[in-house]
Amino acid sequence: MSLKRRLIEDIQQAGPISVAAYMARALFDPTDGYYARGPTLGADFLTAPTTSQMFGEMIGLWCALEWEALGRPDPVRIVELGPGAGTLCADLWRASAALPAFRAALRLHLVEASAPLREMQRATLAATGADATWHETLAALEPAPTIVIGNEFLDCLPIRQFARVEGRWRERLIGADGETLRFGLSGESFAETLLPKFARSPPGDGPILCEIAPGLPDLVAELARAAAPGRALFIDYGGDGWGDTLQALSAHQKVDPLVAPGEADLTAHVDFGAVAAAAQDAGLDAYGPIPQGAFLRTLGLDQRAQALAAAHPQRAERIAREHARLTAPDQMGVLFQAICLTTRALPPPTGF
Ligand code: SAH
Repeated sequence: MSLKRRLIEDIQQAGPISVAAYMARALFDPTDGYYARGPTLGADFLTAPTTSQMFGEMIGLWCALEWEALGRPDPVRIVELGPGAGTLCADLWRASAALPAFRAALRLHLVEASAPLREMQRATLAATGADATWHETLAALEPAPTIVIGNEFLDCLPIRQFARVEGRWRERLIGADGETLRFGLSGESFAETLLPKFARSPPGDGPILCEIAPGLPDLVAELARAAAPGRALFIDYGGDGWGDTLQALSAHQKVDPLVAPGEADLTAHVDFGAVAAAAQDAGLDAYGPIPQGAFLRTLGLDQRAQALAAAHPQRAERIAREHARLTAPDQMGVLFQAICLTTRALPPPTGF
């Protein structure tokens, strides 16, 4: 039975479900979820690491600098959350060859929920000769010196949506109407004080909607436990928690998120204010967010692009296009942002 059919039956029996429950099923249902099926990464959406090898190289350099800031621990764990095709990790590993002491110390750990993606990552890394260890969650990692990377990871965290209509807050839910999944609102309304603080000062008087990732505080607390001492770098499309940012992408097109659960990637913009607040609560400091373009250029992206183009003149045009895609304000340069969470009492992270 299709995932959509199963969702409809569940809703008919137990009532409408939250957007978070829907996202979790559509992405991670063990047989039909988008990530569990072995998504057509690249065919549905392009990310920074799959755009250019320079992205993973710059992140690798950042890891080496933060390894210095941590006092050059040996070994040091590099943990990537949600590595997708494994491209970033492979580029990072290749780039680390230029820094032999860092390469000798680093141990790659990949945290990936999807079995087919773990296989894809294994193949990508095997081609570079890198060793790595895989985990389904952070829970298996003992506290140790660690640098964590998550590119387009936080945007997969399931979100709940709350709408204020005629002065009352209700949850946006997904119900079924025959064979069609539809958005609706909870019958019950609830007190504003049950929402996080930011929801008490909405940007206007009209109908409004806010988004909350309920899993975020636990994720950050897990990070604080495992990366001790450590730092985490997250890069994602930034939002502020306001507005409906639930988005489904299939074959590079935006599609209706309810039409074919499991067949499209589902994401929401990342509320970096909420990430920073979760960090404070977990005893970490947060730096940023800062624009991706500025961050990569501080790390030397311009020089790297020039050097690559000089070494491969036939690829110069493509390298210039990749550089623009990563940095230009009308491409990924400004809308994508970087935030760094860090153990306290360390020097500020590079680039922030
Ligand atoms: N970082 C990659 C892929 C981004 S897609 C890139 O930038 O190209 C999101 C990735 O996160 C996928 O690999 C997905 O399976 C994984 N993922 C999402 N939520 C997860 C979770 N809660 N636990 C583990 N992996 C998760």
